[in-house]
Amino acid sequence: MSDHFTLMIIPNRKSGVKKISVPKAFVRNFLIASVVVIFVTLYFVYDYASIKRDRAELARLRAQTKEQAQQFRDLAVKMDEFSGRMEELRQVDKKIRVLAYETSKDKKLPLGIGGSDNETKIKDLLNKDHEKLITGMRKGIEKLNDDASSREKSFNELLVFLHEQKSILASTPSLWPVKGWVTSEFGARQSPFRSGVEFHKGLDISTRFGKEIVAPADGLVIISAFDSQDGNFIKIDHGHGLATGFAHLSRMAVKQGARVKKGDIIGYVGDTGRSTGSHLHYAVFVNNVPVNPKRYLKDS
Ligand SMILES: [Zn+2]
Repeated sequence: MSDHFTLMIIPNRKSGVKKISVPKAFVRNFLIASVVVIFVTLYFVYDYASIKRDRAELARLRAQTKEQAQQFRDLAVKMDEFSGRMEELRQVDKKIRVLAYETSKDKKLPLGIGGSDNETKIKDLLNKDHEKLITGMRKGIEKLNDDASSREKSFNELLVFLHEQKSILASTPSLWPVKGWVTSEFGARQSPFRSGVEFHKGLDISTRFGKEIVAPADGLVIISAFDSQDGNFIKIDHGHGLATGFAHLSRMAVKQGARVKKGDIIGYVGDTGRSTGSHLHYAVFVNNVPVNPKRYLKDS
């Protein structure tokens, strides 16, 4: 066995054969080297392809990061705008309160309202690090949530207040119970029955016998009875410490315990009891103390 391969080369048809003797070990080593070179080349080709792929991925991620940063910016601007709107709402709330406070007689409405003052704008945090921006946004959302709760609470309070005002208005005896001529004012006067001065605790409205008397405000009939002094007498409790009295009626149209609305007929003009002719003695009480009814009557 030879340890050489013989390579025969024929350069062209006419010339003779050239023989080259190559050691077998050389051929084996050459083959091994070739395989190694092929594998290394394949590896580099693969590596290059994956680098190219990674580069494309990197470009995509960069674009995505840029887009997300823009979205963050937009979100921050929107949150700041929303904060601004909440602040406007707070100002509206304040104006309604001032108006409601000025128009109400009893100053029960607190003017102070919740809601924090404007803090750092979120868009100012955009140039700070990401962590600070996220913290800022979280705080911003919490603040907006708190502000919304404050507004809700405040508006509910206003609603209750306005309902109460409406009720006070409905309970204020502003309506004339009957049209007629005021023949005796509230206050000191000469007694029509005996000599000397007496204090007249109401308004005497003279008009024809049997004319309808209406409730001057919403309320509850607490007295509907006859007494020798006032004759047929009705007293209505309007709440809020207000009550009205109607004396000398010819007939009563409501019973004790009845609820009446402003304008409801409660009775008819007469001259029962200690009276000097057909008239209505009309009294207004504030916490059971008689006051001048004209204080409440419209166009008086
Ligand atoms: Zn009178």
